Parts: sequence; C-alpha cells; structure tokens
Amino acid sequence: MSGIHEECGVFGVVCGRRQNVADTVFYGLYALQHRGQESCGIAVNDDGYLRCYKQAGLVGEVLSPPVRAALGEGNMAVGHVRYGTTGGSDVRNAQPIMVNHKNGRMALVHNGNIANARQLRAELEEKGAIFHTASDTEIIAYLITRERLKSDCIEEAVRRAVRRLQGAYSLIVMSPTKLIAVRDPHAFRPLCCGKTEDGYIVASESCALDAVGAAFVRDIRAGEMLVFDRKGPRSLTLGGKCRPTPCIFEYIYFARPDSVLDGISVHEARKRAGAILAKAYPVQADVVVGVPDSGIDAALGYAQASHIPYGVGLVKNKYIGRTFIEPASSLRENAVRIKLNAVKSAVAGKRVVLIDDSIVRGTTIGRIVRLLKEAGAKQVHLRVTAPPFLFPCHYGTDIDSKENLIACKYSAEEIAKIAGADSLGYFPLGKLNRLAPFPRGVRACRACFDGKYPTRVFEGGKRDKFEQKLGMFSGGQGGNTAKEEQ
Ligand code: SF4
Repeated sequence: MSGIHEECGVFGVVCGRRQNVADTVFYGLYALQHRGQESCGIAVNDDGYLRCYKQAGLVGEVLSPPVRAALGEGNMAVGHVRYGTTGGSDVRNAQPIMVNHKNGRMALVHNGNIANARQLRAELEEKGAIFHTASDTEIIAYLITRERLKSDCIEEAVRRAVRRLQGAYSLIVMSPTKLIAVRDPHAFRPLCCGKTEDGYIVASESCALDAVGAAFVRDIRAGEMLVFDRKGPRSLTLGGKCRPTPCIFEYIYFARPDSVLDGISVHEARKRAGAILAKAYPVQADVVVGVPDSGIDAALGYAQASHIPYGVGLVKNKYIGRTFIEPASSLRENAVRIKLNAVKSAVAGKRVVLIDDSIVRGTTIGRIVRLLKEAGAKQVHLRVTAPPFLFPCHYGTDIDSKENLIACKYSAEEIAKIAGADSLGYFPLGKLNRLAPFPRGVRACRACFDGKYPTRVFEGGKRDKFEQKLGMFSGGQGGNTAKEEQ
C-alpha cells in the first residue's frame, strides 16, 4: 500500500486449431490485472493475419465482448497489461507493439526495463531510426525487426537482438507462424509456461494459467527462449552467460499471493516474511493487522509466529481503479480514507502490530497509522516486510531517486516518529534468502536495498524530468513504479 506500483503482465496462447483465442487472453489478462491497470491489449494471429486492439483502461472495460468478437478467431494470441510511470500513460505506449516489415508482421509484449534503452535509442536514432512511442519495448521491436531482415528465422533475429539488451525483459514475440517466449539471462521478471488440452500458454504468473484452466509446466529459465510452432515447443538458449537474479520484490509486493514464481509460493514467502519479522522484532500487542493486499499474508505469518491474534483491522475499497482522481493536496488525507478504512471494533483500545510491505516516501503509512489511532488503537507497532529502500532500481520500478526514499534521510526510529508509530522494524536484509529460498546458484536481486546491481549500471540511465514528463523509457515493465503515495 505504501510504496510501489505493479509492473506489467504478459500472456500468450498457442493452440492446435483455430478458436476464440482472444477470450483466453482476456481471462489470462484479467488474472494479471494487478500488474498493470493503465492500459491493455490483445493481438490475435489468424493463420498469419495479425489483428490488434489496445486502449487505456482496465481489462474488463477495454476488452469487451464486441472488441473480442472483432478480434476474431485464431490459433495464437498475445496480450499485455501495463502500468506506466508518471507521464507514461499515453495510450501510444500501450502494448502489444505491432510491426510491419518486408518479411511479415510481428506483435511484441514485454515486462521489464531495458537499462541501456537510452543509449540504444540514441545509437539507433543516429542511424536513422524513428520511434513513435516513449517505450523501451519499441526499441526491442526495432532491434528484432532489423535483425529479422538479415536472419533466416525469427528466433535467430530475436536471439541476436536481445544480445544488445541490458536489464530486465520477459518477452513474448508473435510472428505469423511462431510464438516465442524469452526470459533475460538474469530472469529478473517472472515468466512461466502451461499446457492446455490442445496447446500452450505463456504468462507472467502462474495465477494466469490457473485462470484459463492450464496445467503449470515450468518456469522459463534465465536466458531461455521457448519457440512454439508447428513442430511443437522447442527450448533454445540465448547464448552468453546466465546468472539468475530474480527480483525479490516480486515476492514481497508485485506478484499475486496465489502465484508460484520459480518454484516458490508467493503466499508462503509473505508468511515467512511475517514470521521472520515476529522473531526479529517481538512486541507485546493484542492484534496483528495487515495493510491490504500484500500485508495480509505477512500479517498471518507474524500472528502465527508470535501467537498474537490476527485481526481484520483495515478494509480496502476494491472498486478504486486507476481512474480515481487524487484530491487536491488539502484533501489528500481523504484519499487514504476512501481507499482504506479502519475496523473500529478490531483495533479500538488495542495495541496493534501493523504489517505493510514497504515504505518509500513514508507519507501513506503515516496516514494509515493515523487512521488506526483515530479508530481507537492504543499503540501501533509498524513492521515492514521489505528492508529499507536505499538505492534506485534499474530493472523496472520507479524507485529512481534517493531524494524520494525516506530511508535515505532518516533512521527507523525517526521514521516511526514521523509516521506516528510507536515502533518500526524493517525486514532484516541478511534474511532475504530465507523469505524466498532459491536453489543453489540463484541469488535474488536486492539491489534497491543493498546497492549491489546484478548488471552494469548505465550512467545517465535514469530519466530526467523532461523524459519523465514524456513518459520516456517507462517501458515494458509498464512502470513497476514506486507504489503511489498520496
Ligand atoms: S532493484 Fe529491487 S525492485 Fe529492482 S529488480 Fe532488484 S529487487 Fe527488484
């Protein structure tokens, strides 16, 4: 609730016979809506003819039955939900990105952020490229198209193109005859594969496979390219070095709790986070309350480990979408009250342990603490399932400026005071590997907490104010932006 927005979601389907694939993508995107609520779109492949519809808005509003009917039947389709960073909400940045080239057509969807997008764009523009959007995904599309004109097949073009990319990319590329899923050599963003009765699904999260009745097959590996065509699925490698460093923040905040990413249940990871916090920061209290949604699972874990009862102390208004207009600053306090309300009977007269997933600027959490205290809570002890944010993220979130990170300026005690909480405990950095226990050889990215970036960091890689206004490079991740703080 207090810091980072969701990122993008990608979905692809390939099946043996012509059918209503737009409906399948629609239900898959519905399950991925939490990863992006700004725009969405579907491209259908009907025996080599690609039709696309994309628009700003939620999946249920944009991809209505008449829109899906107009997309028609096909044997492959891809879809995308996007959350753009500030200024990046221009519908031109919506995906799928469609490309016409002399060897055919292509549709592309992307989740991630290309760290060297600015450098690549400058280089390509100098050579005459013209870009129509502010999205880094268009750069990927351009690179693939350029390579396609020199390669025998699309998979070779994709392989050559992505070698130029640094950063995070979970991609699905649809050509007239193939569906290609690619996960970058660091596997920053999730991507998994499932099986239906007569075909395959590729999706950002396993919850989308469940939504369309597909059986989970496996996660796509770091540096792997899965090609689906008439010959069936084939696994190829992108070549080069692979060092998986999946984003730890997917488990803390981004992903849905019913998803399993790289073999680790998000719900269980959050419960473990709560249990670890209970041991690290014990406190005498009467009730454990989670900030909906991502604080709920961790609150259960804290309650079980501490033997303090779990309570529903906060209720979220589920019907506030991206169209909710923030009130003027004098009324911003109300924005939190409209989104969240305290359950007085659960917190009045009680010492509350409040579990939230992260603190970015610290403004929202202060308002939530105030909500609880006004509802009669005697004490509020804040426990946060992420360590303090101290460094910008170059792989898709807009944790992009130390000036906006409260932990860069104040100690935990000072932040507790500012928020009006009686104590504050952050998740211990050294215990992140217990939250999401990856197999040997895999070490999650945690660079926004410890500053150890898994890739080269490009100077000037962050957007300046002008670029932010234009939404440039807010790209394919759909801006896994810093969770909004009112
Ligand atoms: S820097 Fe943080 S948010 Fe960005 S990929 Fe790494 S862990 Fe995830």
